[in-house]
Amino acid sequence: MFILGIDTSCDDTGVGVVELSAGRVQVRANRVWSQTVHAQYGGVMPELASREHVERIDAIVGEALSEAGLGITDLGAVAATSGPGLVGALLVGLMYGKGLAQALDVPFYAAHHLEGHIYAAASDAELRAPYLALVVSGGHTHLFDVPREGEYVLIGATRDDAAGEAFDKVARLAGLGYPGGPAISAAAARGNPDAVPFKEPLKGQSGFDFSFSGLKTAALLAHRAGAAPDDLAASFQRAAVQTLVKTTVRAAGATGRGTVVVSGGVAANRALREAFAATGLRVVFPGPGLNTDNGAMIALAAAAAVQAGRAPSALSEGAVAYAPLAGGVGRGL
Ligand code: ATP
Ligand code: FE
Repeated sequence: MFILGIDTSCDDTGVGVVELSAGRVQVRANRVWSQTVHAQYGGVMPELASREHVERIDAIVGEALSEAGLGITDLGAVAATSGPGLVGALLVGLMYGKGLAQALDVPFYAAHHLEGHIYAAASDAELRAPYLALVVSGGHTHLFDVPREGEYVLIGATRDDAAGEAFDKVARLAGLGYPGGPAISAAAARGNPDAVPFKEPLKGQSGFDFSFSGLKTAALLAHRAGAAPDDLAASFQRAAVQTLVKTTVRAAGATGRGTVVVSGGVAANRALREAFAATGLRVVFPGPGLNTDNGAMIALAAAAAVQAGRAPSALSEGAVAYAPLAGGVGRGL
């Protein structure tokens, strides 16, 4: 069965196709159109994002189908993100997906964006609950315990900035450009991580929360004091990686979970991957092109819903700006 997944939650038009066959899932196509119109404003303009999705989505669906070597009638199901995200942007992919499913007379699955990020790690590896899932992206730093397939218990989250947001802000203040994550990562490779001292956020806490605003302020002060951008990047990256890894390892110990999924845009970070690889836990990351927003991860989440025998979503399901991850695909937001 071929499943088409659409994500238009923010400023990327993502369309992917996965094949579900004999209990195995494989990504067959993953096309992303990243909008550039927002750069001049220094942030995403919701109305412009919606319009660009409308203009692009049909072409990106066509590209994904041809990358997969499929015709549109080969699809056995269609999935689209229904939240959380920018409502106007979400609506474009959601309505397109519903219309396509209805025209083809195939099941439709409304997906939660964060469940998509988590299932992005299910492309190569088998993902079997129980496990911990750390979603580190532009808008989230959420640590979930997943005791059973499709069940998500939030055990920790950022108290202020998301991890990706902190990478973006520190890159901007250090003049390293946008997007900040890859810019920090590249600069850090040239810098000295011992150059700027950072205090460990929330040191001594008994829970599993995160905080990045202190690191951000310390970076700003170091920048004003004349720290070299490369050194600042290296020192900040190490501090950010350490707090993510340390807290997650502590949570794994407390819950007894041996497997950790690390996903979302920041999971592309090499230093983060290396630090997690050294923990001794089984750590599963998304493959290339599956860390930041994309449609294949939405198709992967839908594939898991199909495999678990969950019912398709109602075509009345609407777009939601804010939605905690609770039940997962096909269970309503
Ligand atoms: P959300 O999923 O929370 O709604 P989003 O969809 O905007 O947010 P993603 O597309 O998953 O977020 O990730 C984008 C974030 O990932 C940006 O903040 C970016 O700086 C960060 N990022 C991307 N690559 C890297 C990297 N190599 N190192 C660190 N951060 C990175
Ligand atoms: Fe995202």
